Amino acid sequence: MPDAQRPLADRHAIVTGGGRGIGAAIVRRLADLGASISLMGRTPSPLYALADELTEAHPQSFAAVPVDVTDGARVEAAFAEARAALGPVALLVNNAGAVDSVPFGKMAADQWDRMLDVNLTSAYRCTRHALPDMVKAGWGRIVNIASTAGVTGYPYVTAYCAAKHGMIGLTRALALEVVKTGVTVNAVCPGYTDTDLVTGSVETLAEKTGRSADELRQGLERQSPLGRMLTPDEVASAVAWLCHPEQAAITGQRLIISGGEVL
Ligand code: NDP
Repeated sequence: MPDAQRPLADRHAIVTGGGRGIGAAIVRRLADLGASISLMGRTPSPLYALADELTEAHPQSFAAVPVDVTDGARVEAAFAEARAALGPVALLVNNAGAVDSVPFGKMAADQWDRMLDVNLTSAYRCTRHALPDMVKAGWGRIVNIASTAGVTGYPYVTAYCAAKHGMIGLTRALALEVVKTGVTVNAVCPGYTDTDLVTGSVETLAEKTGRSADELRQGLERQSPLGRMLTPDEVASAVAWLCHPEQAAITGQRLIISGGEVL
């Protein structure tokens, strides 16, 4: 039985992009709440390393399931594998994502498609395989990791912004569609968070502009009234809160975590 310290005990969570960055911080938080977790992502080694570490530290089970979320057939197989290992899916965090920075006029059609696929269509794909279990059980939590780029615009990331705005539309519509089933659907919108994703963007920008990576990072930090980037754990904490059984009446929301950058 779940207790106050482990309110997600006996519940199976799937976190995409769970091997590093924000996803790994979410995995750790949900593990602390007692959830059994399938960690999904393309690169196997960090998934297995984190699953092994958590298995040592917690009584519940963890599974590493390598998958590219843009590959429909693999996603279907991965969800079947996860379900066979840890049971019906009760929570899904659609976190896997990537960003390409490129001026709109230079963006090729396949680059646009790739951004939409990894940042938006992947959530549709994964949710289709998780939702039936939740509806059947009469309980579920879906958290979509959008971005402040889902709420406002930023230059040079039009496809990413379009996808993240789409993620919020998906969240709002699906939340209403399943509102009576015990399943909540929410989006979390982080601002700049200190992960490989931001480091990669800064490096690309430094190459293109000839400015130093340090200077560019400081520019991003100054963009937030908080004067720094967020930590992955600050984002994960909000996700864990939305996943708590007590948050049954919060659905269809977008929770902005940006140190006041976007209000
Ligand atoms: P990272 O680059 O650190 O991590 C991205 C994760 O997504 C990795 O685990 C990666 O694993 C996984 N991933 C990427 N592409 C695929 C794919 N095709 N299939 C499966 N997994 C994939 O980024 P963050 O932790 O920063 O980002 C996590 C989420 O947060 C993303 O959706 C991002 O858009 C969002 N976000 C991030 C912000 C930031 O400033 N960092 C701000 C706002 C939102 P692998 O490479 O092994 O596949």
